[in-house]
Amino acid sequence: MTKTAGAESERPGPDPALFDKIVNLCKRRGIVFGSAEIYGGFRSAYDYGPIGAQLLRNVKDAWWRSMVQMRSDVVGLDASILGPPQVWEASGHLKNFTDPLVDCTVCKTRHRQDQLDDPDLCPNCGSRGTFTEARAFNLMFRTQAGPVEDAGAEVYLRPETAQGMFVNFKNILETSRKRPPFGIAQVGKSFRNEITPGNFVFRTREFEQMELEFFVPPVEAPQWYEYWLAERLRWYADLGIPTHQLRLRAHDADELSHYSSGTSDVEFLFPWGWGELEGIANRGDYDLRQHAEHSGQKLEYFDQASGERYVPHVIEPAAGATRALMAFLLAAFRTEVVNDELRTVLGLHPRLAPYKVAVLPLSRKEPLPGLAGDVLAMCQPHWMCDYDETQAIGRRYRRQDEIGTPLCVTVDFESVDDRCVTVRDRDTMAQDRVPIDALVEHLTGRLDL
Ligand code: ATP
Repeated sequence: MTKTAGAESERPGPDPALFDKIVNLCKRRGIVFGSAEIYGGFRSAYDYGPIGAQLLRNVKDAWWRSMVQMRSDVVGLDASILGPPQVWEASGHLKNFTDPLVDCTVCKTRHRQDQLDDPDLCPNCGSRGTFTEARAFNLMFRTQAGPVEDAGAEVYLRPETAQGMFVNFKNILETSRKRPPFGIAQVGKSFRNEITPGNFVFRTREFEQMELEFFVPPVEAPQWYEYWLAERLRWYADLGIPTHQLRLRAHDADELSHYSSGTSDVEFLFPWGWGELEGIANRGDYDLRQHAEHSGQKLEYFDQASGERYVPHVIEPAAGATRALMAFLLAAFRTEVVNDELRTVLGLHPRLAPYKVAVLPLSRKEPLPGLAGDVLAMCQPHWMCDYDETQAIGRRYRRQDEIGTPLCVTVDFESVDDRCVTVRDRDTMAQDRVPIDALVEHLTGRLDL
């Protein structure tokens, strides 16, 4: 069954050309670089440059703001990336966190069988019936802690952040004075030895996740599942992704994990078609029960008011920060012709925009840079700001449009006398004259962060 969130009729198809435009923009403007490029690159890992690092931080901050800061029923966690095998034994990852791997015996390429359009046809060389038997390939990265390479030193890089919340459930219950329904949220790196990484930062071996484990009384699980579906879809829409590029897709019964009574993905219309941004699952009491059994600890909640003792059920919205960044870039990108010139704009939501304000002195001749420096110093405590005094002003506006800066502040020769600056809007290109003394207040109102 497919549940869709936008009107079918208004939904345009994917735009394959957009992918290359975004990859080019990312490289050209220092948003995302291939990792270790000076050594020829390292497939499936990426480095976020000055603008990308800020954008990624803003995506994670926007999630944290909505999921932790604005709620009183969610607390945060920052758990370790390295974990002992017991955690992954209990969670089921050692046994089940596998993808079906097939090799083509003709061209020697490897594929994930469940992602092939035709399970008998090699998409690389076109041979039919040349795949090996599928083998279960575990996606976890294994390494060792300390100088000894014996089994006791074996550790894993986490393939998801979620287990940190389950193994800390008791700690947090005892120290935070929260009671179900309440959640534990975490943002951080995860690692999966993906068989077929690709599509830029959509699928990489090292990536960032933003996950919430929301613990609820068992009878309330269905309603909280529905609540989080709506809430998470709204988060992407509120941050500027058009609703016709978003949908909720409920998993079919044969896609569901054995313990899940419901899972839906928030999907985005990527240039190659619909792809997952986030999975929202009703996980029942599976995780806490598994860890209770393997650790011998009681992982349950005792409700003093009712005298009831129970293992909470869990609703898990699990999103990818790096994948969301890509979706926000794709959704924000537009080009338009202005005065016979092509203008590229990243229409990012101001909360996500890497720089909120750019300060631009019209000329490099003093006293303009000095005055612009003062204006910059006024703005920097409030927002991430850029400063640029090179090239013609029109070129500088275009450069800011291309990285999504919502507002530019231009200091010109008149500013020296009238103590006013020009505030120029990324989307409308309208220009307003504003007194320097009132600038911070003016920009605060305009940015609406
Ligand atoms: P997929 O089916 O795409 O492999 P998944 O269902 O295994 O994803 P989850 O385990 O639900 O993914 O992880 C939650 C989120 O983490 C995903 O929706 C995605 O945004 C992100 N994510 C998972 N794997 C990767 C990856 N290899 N690279 C980037 N982001 C990822």
